[in-house]
Amino acid sequence: MTDRRSILGSLGLGLAGAMATGTLKAASPRRPFGYAVVGLGSYATRQIMPNFKGCDHARLVALVSGTPEKLERYGAEYGIPPTHRYSYATFDTIRDNPDVDAVYVILPNAMHAEYTIRAAQADKHVMCEKPMAVSVAEGEAMIAACRRAGKRLMIGYRCRFEPHNQLAIELARGGHVGPTRLITAEHGFNARTNQWRLDRALSGGGSLMDIGIYSLNAARYLTGEEPVEVSAIEATDRNDPRFRTVEDRINFLLRFPSGIEAVCVSSYSSNHNAYRVTGTDGWIDMEPATPYEGHAMRIRRDGSTAPRTVPPARRNQFAAQLDHLAECVAAGTAPIVPGEEGLADLKVMAAIYRSAAERRHVAL
Ligand code: NAD
Repeated sequence: MTDRRSILGSLGLGLAGAMATGTLKAASPRRPFGYAVVGLGSYATRQIMPNFKGCDHARLVALVSGTPEKLERYGAEYGIPPTHRYSYATFDTIRDNPDVDAVYVILPNAMHAEYTIRAAQADKHVMCEKPMAVSVAEGEAMIAACRRAGKRLMIGYRCRFEPHNQLAIELARGGHVGPTRLITAEHGFNARTNQWRLDRALSGGGSLMDIGIYSLNAARYLTGEEPVEVSAIEATDRNDPRFRTVEDRINFLLRFPSGIEAVCVSSYSSNHNAYRVTGTDGWIDMEPATPYEGHAMRIRRDGSTAPRTVPPARRNQFAAQLDHLAECVAAGTAPIVPGEEGLADLKVMAAIYRSAAERRHVAL
């Protein structure tokens, strides 16, 4: 089992203290923070796994999949030995693997709670993809399980580690275009058929759970406030075979305590990736706002509009996100996007669905 001191030592952060107590020799090699990735689908294999190479502290050390061929293929590609490859059936024995500090859950949404709780019970820290779970009750159970085990729980909100979004937060909350009055946030894509995202049993919902959550999360991080009221309308063509069990469009209005309003788009049949923060004196525009790369920002202030370039970060958003959990465990601090952040989105999404279904404003 890896305790805090050994991780502190391994990251080199507690070196002086460890040396003073004689637990670590100066020549000891630093052991990076080891992740096991659970679910070897598109996001795991195309975005997360290739980006460990840019990390300062995090390393991919184990793989979990229900498909033996994927374990073989990615195990060979990433140098993960057979002893560090697990099926869903053998997953719990990961407890006995001291190289694994954290489990990164990148499965269909309805499986997040089970694997997060099993990981915590196996004495591992947890990184879990968004949406954290498919219900508020599940989100609460995940937080409780990690707390009981004394383990950190972080949600994969990568945008919080991306420099354009970090600057937008700073400018918006700092009143760069005057106090914020309105946020518009749009996220959507044209969903392809035959995938778990369109099966409510696995996704927990349609565009809102998958992509509209970016509009919601942006409205919350750009304001730093929690909405007090939501109002939503849904538009779904139930004759479209994609939308038998999940919604297509669900657009919503959020009211924040300071008087800021956010008008948010969530769609599975049209393409959007943008937000705009409008203040009394201008606006901050991001389009695309939350892509994997290629963000673009423009600012209107004092009557003129100009692009704002942001220098590239040394670590990209994926590497910085992966390192953040390692840094938090080493320092004994909470992640900036803990389980509670995922739970806050789940609570607002539940209210959005209720508002649309009951055709009324819902107070939070
Ligand atoms: P995907 O379909 O590409 O991968 C899902 C993986 O889960 C596959 O390897 C599949 O084999 C496995 N799986 C296990 N049991 C399954 C079951 N019963 N049905 C279907 N698949 C099963 O999906 P993805 O796009 O990689 O999404 C996975 C998670 O990552 C989701 O929660 C999604 O919201 C999240 N995600 C996050 C981002 C981001 O930018 N943060 C981007 C994409 C996806």
